[in-house]
Amino acid sequence: MSPARTHSQALFEAARALIPGGVNSPVRAFLGVGGEPRFIARAKGARITDVDGYTFIDYVCSWGPLILGHAHPRVVHAIQQAAARGTSYGAPTAGEVEIARRIVAALPSVEKVRLVSSGTEAVMSAVRLARAATGRDALVKFAGCYHGHADSLLVEAGSGLATLGIPGSPGVPEATARLTRSLPYNDLDSARRLFETEGSAIAAVVVEPVAGNMGVVPPAPGFLEGLRELTRASGALLIFDEVITGFRLGFGGAQALYGVRPDLTVLGKIIGGGLPIGAFGGRADLMAMIAPEGPVYQAGTLSGNPVAVAAGIETLRILERADYDLLDQRTSALVGRMKECADAAGVSTSWNRVGSMFTCFFTEGRVTDYASARRADAKRYAAFFHEMLKRRVYLAPSAFEAAFVSMAHEERDITQTVKAAAKSFQALAAPSAKP
Ligand code: PLP
Repeated sequence: MSPARTHSQALFEAARALIPGGVNSPVRAFLGVGGEPRFIARAKGARITDVDGYTFIDYVCSWGPLILGHAHPRVVHAIQQAAARGTSYGAPTAGEVEIARRIVAALPSVEKVRLVSSGTEAVMSAVRLARAATGRDALVKFAGCYHGHADSLLVEAGSGLATLGIPGSPGVPEATARLTRSLPYNDLDSARRLFETEGSAIAAVVVEPVAGNMGVVPPAPGFLEGLRELTRASGALLIFDEVITGFRLGFGGAQALYGVRPDLTVLGKIIGGGLPIGAFGGRADLMAMIAPEGPVYQAGTLSGNPVAVAAGIETLRILERADYDLLDQRTSALVGRMKECADAAGVSTSWNRVGSMFTCFFTEGRVTDYASARRADAKRYAAFFHEMLKRRVYLAPSAFEAAFVSMAHEERDITQTVKAAAKSFQALAAPSAKP
């Protein structure tokens, strides 16, 4: 007799008939790990519960926004209060001034900021601004970095595409893709060479200051500083995509951590406290080019949405006084102990961690760029993912993603995760689990 179908399986079948692939964002479909996605009913703190009543310790955290954990009481209260006052006006609000003030105060390079509704929209707008400001068209990005799904950035764009095994996307005009040069992450020499030959055509270099979309890859010493020098010398702009790292790697994001000031910064995720938001900001002279102050058109019906802004403000208020060091230590302990479990089981792993984001790559070598990330054994990751899921730990359903630890992850969650990891690595090492 076949086992009874779960509610998740039934929902996934219904979803596939109505929604492409059954999901509203590809990586959710579990294609990278096999099996069916869990449909989530609710979540609280560090734990999510699926429609079948199974509760998991969550290291996806909505792919980064939930640094405070799920349904933080103060954030929920702020959302409820804001929603009761009306969900959208299409007119400016005091909240937009407050969140802008907080972002400008926190991020060293940001003097003015514009809110949008997603990270994709924010990057797209920053790129348009960079092109307008420089009068140039070419764009430099790094293989394995994901900057949302705007046409000019869907070139060697990491996680989602890597999971599906596709290099780019049909539908992106070749003429658009040709304007984007993709270089190896952490390879300053190749950037230097490109600038020598094509520097005068390059509008901007866009980079994740800590890569999070090929798994976590930290910048090599001097890499970000080198990009700063190259762009400055050639009149191109440096854009930091801090959609993941903003307010995660400390209150000043990656730019404060590494002491490098980009011209433009892109934000998303945490600044909306789990509601849809994005933002781009930077030097006042550049931001003055945005409509209606300047000619670069950019707009949005729901931009600066009062409910999202309220969630964001409350999140930033809490983070302003939060103990990022403790979060860092907790993540460091978790990664250290999980690595010990892998070593004890004789499973080869390579771990990258910056602050509260980390990835376990199933490979022996160090992972420093997209090519080395791709050498990791994605099938072993898939097996590990399912072993962990069985033990009620929910990791990202793809080998090329970051795991996120939140401030709601407590010591008992870490201990439970390490226990699950010990058994999962042992299961992987068992002869029957070997390929
Ligand atoms: N930039 C980075 C670094 C991201 O990780 C993402 C999404 O994961 C984006 C941009 C796009 O943001 P959104 O999914 O809100 O459009």
